[in-house]
Amino acid sequence: PPPPLPPEDKVLVPIEVCLKPSSTVSIHDVRSAIEGMLEKRSLSYNGGPIPVPLDEPFLADNVQRICVCDAGEGMQNDNVLLFWQVKPVVHVFQLSEEGPCEDISSDGQSSSFNEWILPAKEFDGMWESLIYESGLKQRLLRYAASALLFTEKAVDPFLVSWNRIILLHGPPGTGKTSLCKALAQKLSIRFNSRYTQAQLVEVNAHSLFSKWFSESGKLVAKLFQKIQEMVEEESNLVFVLIDEVESLAAARKAALSGSEPSDSIRVVNALLTQMDKLKSSPNVIILTTSNITAAIDIAFVDRADIKAYVGPPTLQARYEILRSCLQELMRTGILTSFEDCKNTVLPNYASAKQRMNAPNFHEATTSMQLCKQLVETAEACEGMSGRSLRKLPFLAHAALANPFDCNPIKFLSSMVDTAKRERSEL
Ligand code: ADP
Repeated sequence: PPPPLPPEDKVLVPIEVCLKPSSTVSIHDVRSAIEGMLEKRSLSYNGGPIPVPLDEPFLADNVQRICVCDAGEGMQNDNVLLFWQVKPVVHVFQLSEEGPCEDISSDGQSSSFNEWILPAKEFDGMWESLIYESGLKQRLLRYAASALLFTEKAVDPFLVSWNRIILLHGPPGTGKTSLCKALAQKLSIRFNSRYTQAQLVEVNAHSLFSKWFSESGKLVAKLFQKIQEMVEEESNLVFVLIDEVESLAAARKAALSGSEPSDSIRVVNALLTQMDKLKSSPNVIILTTSNITAAIDIAFVDRADIKAYVGPPTLQARYEILRSCLQELMRTGILTSFEDCKNTVLPNYASAKQRMNAPNFHEATTSMQLCKQLVETAEACEGMSGRSLRKLPFLAHAALANPFDCNPIKFLSSMVDTAKRERSEL
C-alpha cells in the first residue's frame, strides 16, 4: 500500500459506536478499544456498518453497532475507504429508552411541549432515512458544529457575530421537523465528550395559540422557565424545536386586524424576548420550521442565522426514498416470489442509471428489470412530498389483488397506479 498521508491532509471520518442498552462500561474505555481496533486492523471499508469484532470480548459484549459516517470525502478508488488514509474520530454513545416526557399542566390537560433525552431510541436511524440531494444535511451539521465551537472558544460576539437559530422552511411533508430532530440527535452524539447530557424540547407554536390566550402567556413563561433551568447546567446541550412558526406571524396579524385579542401580540412578543434571552446561553440551539415561507414573522426571520429551503424531493431523491422502502419490504419478506429476494441489494440511483445506459444493458435479470421500473416509478411520483412517498408502498400493497403473492415487479406497477391516483387527488 502507498504510504499514509501526512496528518494535515487526512480527512476526518466520524465513526459512531452505539453501545448495547445493557452495557454499563465507560464511554472512554470503549473509545480507546475502538481506536486500538482501527489502528491494528488498518481496515478498509466500502459502505454499511463495520462488524463488531467477535474476537474482542470487551467490544463484542458491549457494542451493538459501529457505523462509518459521511465517508464520501475519504472514499477513494472503487469507493473504498482506507483507514490509514483518513483520521477516524470515534463517538461512543448509548440510546436513551426513556421516551418522550410530556409535560402535564396543573389542570391535568396535556400541554404544548414534549421533552426528550438525547440520543433517543425513537430518533435512531432518522438522519440516515432523510434523503436530500443538495448536501443540506452536511451543511446543517457543519453550521451547528461551527456555532458550538465559536461559543465554546468564547469568540466575542461583538467582533464576530453568529447565533444558534436555524430556520427550515418549505412545503409540508418535506421532512423539516424530522430533520430538526435528527440533527439534534446527531449533534448530541457528535458532541458528547463536551456535553455529557443532551435534551430536546419540542414546542408546537400553533398549539400555543390554540389555547385560551390568557393561558398562552402562562404557557410561554412556564416553558421558558423550564428551558432556562436546563440551560443552567453547563454540561447540558439543549435543543429547542419550535414547529410551525408561521403561526406567530398569523397571530400577530390577526391581532392587528382586530379579529383576535391583543393578548396574542403579547404572547408572540414574549416568545421572541425569551428567545433573545436564551441566545446568550452557549449551550442552546434553537431549531424552527415553517410550512409557509412568505408568512414567517419578519422579526423571526431576522433572528435566524441559517435559513434553509427544504423542497420536494428531486428525481434522484425520490428514487432513493422508494429504494429504501422496497429494500425494507424485501428484508421483512413482504415482497417475495423471486429467488433470494431477501438478499437482493438494489443499486443506488447513480449506478442504476449507469447500468441502464450501458450498451450491453438488457432487462433479462430480475434485479435490472426491477431497477428500471423503480426509476420509472420515481419519475411517475414527480411533485409528491417525502411524506407521501414513504406512504406509497403501503397504499400500493393494500391495493394489490392478492397481497400474499407479492412479486416486486407487480408491486411496482401497483405503486405507479397508486401514485397516479394520489397525484390526481392532490
Ligand atoms: P414536515 O415537517 O416538513 O411537514 P415531516 O418531518 O413531518 O415533514 O416529515 C414526515 C415524514 O416524511 C418523515 O418522517 C419522513 O419519513 C418522510 N420524508 C419527508 N421528506 C423526506 C425526505 N427528503 N427523505 C426521506 N423521507 C422523507
